[in-house]
Amino acid sequence: MTAHDEWVQRDAQVVWHGFTQMATFADNGPIIVDRAEGRELIDVDGKRYLDAISSLWVTTLGHHVPELDDAIIRQLALGAHSTMLGNGNRVVVELSEALARVVPVDDPHFLYASDGASAVEQALKIAFQYWHNRGATGRSTFLAFGGAYHGDTIGALSVGDDGFGADVFNALRFPVVRAPAFDDPACFDVAAGLISEHASELAAVIVEPSVQAAAGMQLADHAGLARLGAACRAHDVLLICDEIATGFGRTGTLFASEQCDLRPDLLCLGKGLTAGYLPMSVTAASGRVFAEFLGDDLGERTLYHGHSFGGNALAAAVALRHLELIEAWDVLANVRERSDELAGLLHDRIAAKPAVREVRLRGLMGAVELAPPAGARFWGRRVSAAAVERGVLLRSIGDNVTLMPPLTITSEEIHRIVHVLGDAIDQEASNP
Ligand SMILES: *Cc1c(COP(=O)(O)O)cnc(C)c1O
Repeated sequence: MTAHDEWVQRDAQVVWHGFTQMATFADNGPIIVDRAEGRELIDVDGKRYLDAISSLWVTTLGHHVPELDDAIIRQLALGAHSTMLGNGNRVVVELSEALARVVPVDDPHFLYASDGASAVEQALKIAFQYWHNRGATGRSTFLAFGGAYHGDTIGALSVGDDGFGADVFNALRFPVVRAPAFDDPACFDVAAGLISEHASELAAVIVEPSVQAAAGMQLADHAGLARLGAACRAHDVLLICDEIATGFGRTGTLFASEQCDLRPDLLCLGKGLTAGYLPMSVTAASGRVFAEFLGDDLGERTLYHGHSFGGNALAAAVALRHLELIEAWDVLANVRERSDELAGLLHDRIAAKPAVREVRLRGLMGAVELAPPAGARFWGRRVSAAAVERGVLLRSIGDNVTLMPPLTITSEEIHRIVHVLGDAIDQEASNP
């Protein structure tokens, strides 16, 4: 028995993996990571894998980056955590000042949490209470899009679309006004119509700017998104942008909202916020939203919401250093150059394969949608597994093989990913 087999067995005895059928977990060739460095994961047998999904979309600059490690070590000597409820912490103030300079939100204030779903829950509750505090009645529902994914807590599941296992919880999910999915070219105009029709009931619209990641990297029309933002303003409905996946350079600008002319009232960030090092998420609220919560001490205008580890100091320290490094290393330029390169390679070597239906890419968020032969099962999973065998960690969502390399990926590594993906597709196509 290899070290790998032994660790998989020990894992299956005691761990419950998210989004994973545990009865078959061990049969699907899971990697058990021992350590990580640069853009590679190294398993318990010492085998190396290029982390081409950025550890589920969170890793930005790479693993075990000396500058990021140092930021955490320095903060560790100053204390790992202190509560944000009614009190502050110096590094959280510094991070918030740095974020305030770059987020596409006017006069922002930052409420911290740990996971993306919590940042979404916070945004939904803030939007709801905003109208309550203004004395507006009936502003209690949300408009969300087909194909949307906003996280796995009950509120986030409610604004998220069916699928991804959400339907099981239908009895717990609250109803929303649902616009069509991004693959319908009319979706933003239909949404604008729904906003006008339901304005008096809507607390907010929630949208993933530019790319719906979990829907298999569905790309939005930026002009349509800009019209959506205008419709929100025209009808005085709050706009929540969920940039948990797209934030921090993923799409080639620091935030995708910038490309779509969106200035949300509430912005949700997570995943890449700490460069993928530590769990931290944040909801940024605009000055006009924040102002509606000001009132008497312990009064009912207060937002009675807060998480134990919101504003964790270690996470804040690495998030702050991350923002500096994105600029110092000109990471956005690399995203754009590597994206152009990846687009060219996917076009030349992948898109024309009969086993491929469509290739979608924005920045370094991509998906290769497969066209499985009739009756073929787990096609996306099998192609990903064939890539993993070749040392490139890929993961599928249905028939979509997702490509989400770290933002510091090199030209050579981009070539390797495409080469391995091509071989993996050919192997499965010849063996349906
Ligand atoms: C991942 C994701 C979330 C949920 O974040 P978690 O940290 O997994 O809770 C929400 N919205 C989008 C767009 C995401 O990609």
